[in-house]
Amino acid sequence: MNEHRFPKWVWPSLLGLLGISPPAIALWFQSNLEQYLATQTPLQLIRLLIPLLGISTLLLAWCIYQHPWLCWDEPTGTWLNRLSKLRYCAKCKAAKIVTPLKNEVTGWRCMNCQHFFHDPSRADIESPKKKVVKNERI
Ligand SMILES: [Zn+2]
Repeated sequence: MNEHRFPKWVWPSLLGLLGISPPAIALWFQSNLEQYLATQTPLQLIRLLIPLLGISTLLLAWCIYQHPWLCWDEPTGTWLNRLSKLRYCAKCKAAKIVTPLKNEVTGWRCMNCQHFFHDPSRADIESPKKKVVKNERI
């Protein structure tokens, strides 16, 4: 249980500190940075800026990709991630727990609260248990 070693506010604080440290360092050494940049040609500055812009864009894309962009799926009563097509439990999300659902024969089951979400598009598919019961009646 290494996750509970630190209080919850430690990691966001460290990430925030890491996020603001490059601009703070740049402001701290602003006069030295201005002297250095004044000696460089515009072409060298562009070559310096392109990797920085690329890294910033990649980080932004990574953050957007990792964020669970969930939309409400009315027929199934689940939350759906449009990018990964994963479904999430509505009951657990109401309790602020993001839990992906396990795909089963006629719907999805939450492995946290065990609630079953029926899929209307798979209503005609019968589970193997029901088929066995039908065969016994005949
Ligand atoms: Zn749940």
